[in-house]
Amino acid sequence: MIELTFNTVFILYLAVTLTIVLSVWIYSHYRTRRRVFTAPEKVLCVCEYCLFAYVEQSIKKLNRCPKCGLYNKENSFKK
Ligand SMILES: [Zn+2]
Repeated sequence: MIELTFNTVFILYLAVTLTIVLSVWIYSHYRTRRRVFTAPEKVLCVCEYCLFAYVEQSIKKLNRCPKCGLYNKENSFKK
């Protein structure tokens, strides 16, 4: 039969704990690297009346200025 001293049991406990922590760390690292983030299409627009620059979610014929509330024609700048 194998004799287990206190030091052997303690080292085995530390090795098992370290292995579990490392495996969770490596798994979470590769899991986060696989995610692909796609930014939604946003367009920078400048108000014709107050020259306030704002970001619109999508390209429209008419954009409403969030500062003055007036409608602007399509005057968007590409990224
Ligand atoms: Zn405006």
